[in-house]
Amino acid sequence: MNKDKNKDNEKEQKKKLWIAVITLVILLIIAIVGVVIYNQNNDEEDENTLAYTELIKEISYENVEKVELTTGSRNAKVKLKNEDEEKTAIIPDSEAFITLIQTEVAEGNEIELIQKPQSFLAQLPGTIFSILPTIIMVALFIMIFKMQGLGEKGKVYDETERKTKVRFDDVAGLEEEKNELIEIVDFLKRPEKYTRMGARVPKGVLLYGKPGTGKTLIAKAIAGEADVPFISMSGSEFIEMFAGLGASRVRKLFEKARKLAPCIVFIDEIDAIGSRRTSNSGAETENNQTLNQLLVEMDGFSSEETIIVLAATNRPEMLDKALLRPGRFDRQITIPNPDLNGRLDILKIHSKDKKLSDDVNLESIAEDTAGFTGAELENILNEAAIVATKNKHEEIENDDIEEAVKKVTVGLEKKGRVISDKDKRLTAYHEAGHAVVSRYLPTQTNVKEVSIIPRGVAGGYTMYKTNEDKYYISKTEMQEKLIALLGGRAAERLVLDDISTGASNDIEVATQIARDMVTKYGMSDKLGPIDFQGKEPYEMQMFGENIGDEIGEEVKTLIDTAYNDAITLLKEHRDKLDRIAEVLLQKEKINEQEFNQIFEEE
Ligand code: ADP
Ligand code: MG
Ligand code: ZN
Repeated sequence: MNKDKNKDNEKEQKKKLWIAVITLVILLIIAIVGVVIYNQNNDEEDENTLAYTELIKEISYENVEKVELTTGSRNAKVKLKNEDEEKTAIIPDSEAFITLIQTEVAEGNEIELIQKPQSFLAQLPGTIFSILPTIIMVALFIMIFKMQGLGEKGKVYDETERKTKVRFDDVAGLEEEKNELIEIVDFLKRPEKYTRMGARVPKGVLLYGKPGTGKTLIAKAIAGEADVPFISMSGSEFIEMFAGLGASRVRKLFEKARKLAPCIVFIDEIDAIGSRRTSNSGAETENNQTLNQLLVEMDGFSSEETIIVLAATNRPEMLDKALLRPGRFDRQITIPNPDLNGRLDILKIHSKDKKLSDDVNLESIAEDTAGFTGAELENILNEAAIVATKNKHEEIENDDIEEAVKKVTVGLEKKGRVISDKDKRLTAYHEAGHAVVSRYLPTQTNVKEVSIIPRGVAGGYTMYKTNEDKYYISKTEMQEKLIALLGGRAAERLVLDDISTGASNDIEVATQIARDMVTKYGMSDKLGPIDFQGKEPYEMQMFGENIGDEIGEEVKTLIDTAYNDAITLLKEHRDKLDRIAEVLLQKEKINEQEFNQIFEEE
């Protein structure tokens, strides 16, 4: 997608390239100046440095008065008893060194040990120039990433985007959610109004929702509406971070927030730092430090400070409960996938800057995209623009958008691929199998299109009309879904008396559904309404020694039954199966009307 987008705005690319080149030149100049300064500094420091072995010797002679260490830095300032001037020593391993001094102190050696928190400025002259080449390399990489449009992910602070132009109007649908959040906007604008009344305004709001549902967008919109700075950070940044850095990043983030208050602090993917604190080992400890720091910061600012912390996650169950306590993220808002109207609004918003032909029917596109997120819909419109360009259309036509939907859901059509007649026949029967079976299943939606033109990795596909957004799916519906999924394999078995690898995806999906039915939705009569998912082995023991086997048997029964039902249905309607396969071999593609017609003819 990124590639295509880039093609779209070559000008932007060129601009970025120039910025990159200029930045590089500037960096090089800094580097040269830096090396010069570093060399000068070094010359001066030479008389004032103390070799580590010397330092150890002085310590053992009880000749050291004071040692000052900065966390993260290897430079120590040493004051010797018989000298006025402080000296600098390079400590190879600061932890070992601290232990050494502590032992000395315990044994009566009067050394004053001062441990200073890391200060970036203090470190500048010492280390930055010695790591300049690395910095330049890193800068180069970041730039290359940015040019590929991947940069946003790598950003810890949103320095550039302190004030956002996003408004609630840019967020389609989500009316109830916006209504709930308007209070926060009001609070940011007129905090006195609330504090005078002694009202306790939320400090933190958690946004739950799948990726692409608009959590970041709505957070920005709050900042935009309130006209306050938006500073953000992503939890995923911390996963590969060095020990101790996570906590200090959080501290710095809030330091900055206090300076900029009133403001919004946005923590994306908070589950990466805020997952349940469990054991005290390895990576966990690091996460805990970061999480603890976050809790400390949130508890630290009073409600007068008008900082609102918004956080987003798509894995609420992972979060440490401590985050949800009053005074922290005590308000949670679920951001759902858009419903029909929401999708239509999103399509409208994102087609504003695109040339749409009059024949475009956004309503029907919205109908066809149940379950899609805002980000996916935006993506579809971008794809549609590319498809239209490829088709040399003046404007984006309805077909272009429909093609884009298919491109996003099934993959790119591969008309050029050469397929043997044998494979074609197999695909035709496989797809006809799906289509015919679902036609006779009351809960399954109508067939929209059947095709044996390869798309993406699929040899063919059967597209169904989407059913309008339902909150619940019944057991019968799930069972019938299994039958429809296995209809392809069943047709292969029945007609060709052999089976192929073409059904692998169907089988994967079916198995997942059957497993969820048994272990998540309590739909097995034998095992009852129990949640078996994500349980530790010892927890599973509660349900009996052989619970694993029993679950497996139930899943297998569901699949076997569905497969047999599919075979039965196809045997019963063999004439339709043959007919659909025949038309498919002729025309490669059957649309809804043609499909229905075949069932009406006698
Ligand atoms: P999330 O943070 O939930 O992963 P984002 O806010 O980053 O999702 O959404 C990604 C993009 O998708 C947005 O920049 C916007 O273009 C589009 N989008 C998502 N939801 C909506 C919506 N409700 N209205 C308009 N655009 C949306
Ligand atoms: Mg986001
Ligand atoms: Zn299939």
